[in-house]
Amino acid sequence: MKLKPLVINMETGTVIKSTGSWYNVKLDSGEIIPSRIKGKFRLDDFKVTNPVAVGDIVDLDIEKDEDTVGTIKNIHPRVNYVVRQSPRKKHFVHLMATNIDQAVVIITLKEPTIKIGFIDRFLLMTEPYSIPVTIVFNKVDLHEKEDEDFVEYIKAVYSSIGYSVLETSIVSEEGLDELKETLKDKTTLISGQSGVGKSSLVNAIAPELDLKTQDISEYSGKGQHTTTFAEMFELSFGGRIIDTPGIKTLGFNHLELMDVAHNFREFFILSEDCKFNNCLHRNEPKCAVKEALENGEISAIRYENYLSILQDIEDQNYWEIQKDI
Ligand code: GDP
Ligand code: ZN
Repeated sequence: MKLKPLVINMETGTVIKSTGSWYNVKLDSGEIIPSRIKGKFRLDDFKVTNPVAVGDIVDLDIEKDEDTVGTIKNIHPRVNYVVRQSPRKKHFVHLMATNIDQAVVIITLKEPTIKIGFIDRFLLMTEPYSIPVTIVFNKVDLHEKEDEDFVEYIKAVYSSIGYSVLETSIVSEEGLDELKETLKDKTTLISGQSGVGKSSLVNAIAPELDLKTQDISEYSGKGQHTTTFAEMFELSFGGRIIDTPGIKTLGFNHLELMDVAHNFREFFILSEDCKFNNCLHRNEPKCAVKEALENGEISAIRYENYLSILQDIEDQNYWEIQKDI
């Protein structure tokens, strides 16, 4: 019997892909090591479906045998992370990405028609760590005058509270330079329902990545998945993106109502002036948020979405992103 020498060394790398049970870890040398997890990892008080996520910096033992495989032993402290409620397991959360500089959320008014409440639900996921977000309206080539007016209105609402809004199209190439500029030298989580043109947009500004896109003729409007797992890609002009699977539903049953109140940034600032320090800005007397709403200082869209998220949590609902499914 021949005994092979087993070489084990300890290395540090970045998780660039997670497929559920295997994680691809990229070392500084550029080498990619398929790795598994050993031990238990927890995320504060939550149960997580994936204890390690794309973006994590990890220490791993590397066994150089016939195949080189790694065992993740330790996760470095995270600068931030984005979680969503697991679409399948109600009492679990799913880590979308960690250690990001910013997020880009892509939406479309047409083909598919995304409910505008998606924006506030997305922002609720990024706000706990004050992650900067750019809201991208893609497929603006399909817009008619009323759509353009609507985008202008949304732009005013969200830019007034510190979020960026971009309009893009791979057909007219509008906004592509701005999107590229936004991504340059940053690590960006990119998200959206499938079909909104996420892969097309990435390919338009970084053709070398050659992400899979789906033809509109194959696209039923129901949002099939082209991306199944989160994956990090390096951009040739500098920066990295984390491509994530298309989102269909969002639930926030892992949150307390007060968490929602704290993560609507302009409500939170005003809440200092509410009579009750646990004010949920619904029917409480002397509520600064409701006063601001009446004065037009707070957007009615934001407030309605806020109430609807509270209601969904109370009803333990999942919220469907697309209209007319
Ligand atoms: P993903 O699922 O979000 O990655 O979407 P894809 O990139 O696969 O695009 C879905 C469909 O939308 C494809 O048929 C694209 O050609 C089309 N598409 C993407 N961007 C645009 C756009 O700016 N305008 C129009 N009219 N169609 C687009
Ligand atoms: Zn209040």
